[in-house]
Amino acid sequence: MKTVPIVENVLKLNDEVASINRKLLRELGVLTIDLIGGPGCGKTTLLEETLRRLKGDHAIGVLAGDLTTTRDADRLYQWCDQVVQINTGKGCHLDANQVRQGMAQLDLGALDALFIENVGNLICPVGFDLGQDVKVGMFSVSEGDDKAVKHPYVVYESSVVLLNKTDLLPHVAFDVTSFCADVKRLNPEVDVLELSAGTGQIDPWLRWLSDLIASPPSSRLACDEPVSAVRNV
Ligand code: MG
Ligand code: ZN
Repeated sequence: MKTVPIVENVLKLNDEVASINRKLLRELGVLTIDLIGGPGCGKTTLLEETLRRLKGDHAIGVLAGDLTTTRDADRLYQWCDQVVQINTGKGCHLDANQVRQGMAQLDLGALDALFIENVGNLICPVGFDLGQDVKVGMFSVSEGDDKAVKHPYVVYESSVVLLNKTDLLPHVAFDVTSFCADVKRLNPEVDVLELSAGTGQIDPWLRWLSDLIASPPSSRLACDEPVSAVRNV
């Protein structure tokens, strides 16, 4: 029996479009971050607080991926006018072509940075290159301290790991030391930033982000390479 490697073909096509996205974003000097986390970990809340705090300092756009609603884009639009909702229907991740269509609706030349809020999912978003400079993996203490070790691929690919909702630590059984040890074992180069986006405690993230905008990784790389691919060599 003969088989067709559909998944490989889909990923190859995706990677080609992602390279086109990356080339354009780098030519225009737009630092691009793919934010990956499970449903309810606080991705949109973090982006709202980030946009609120950086307003006036940096021009930021957002592509927000979700199955059907525009709820995330509606929330983010309060803080920035360059927001596009990408509805994926039954699709559980964003792909490079959807991002390309979203990029076409933004004034990219006016942006310093672009956030891509991926569909809430810790699994397949990791495998789809979108043309980003970096991927950021996000967890929260309400999800359980075993989630990093159970989702190793997002940890391997992340340039930084975020642990959100730390304000809830007194109320939940979450061992921060164990979580951080798992992350370090999976990816010794990556730091864990402890945040509470809902209460505005995001200073470590803002410092990390400002450093990255000031010294974008793209300036140190060949044009078609995502940062994670280089880091893992
Ligand atoms: Mg969201
Ligand atoms: Zn998927």
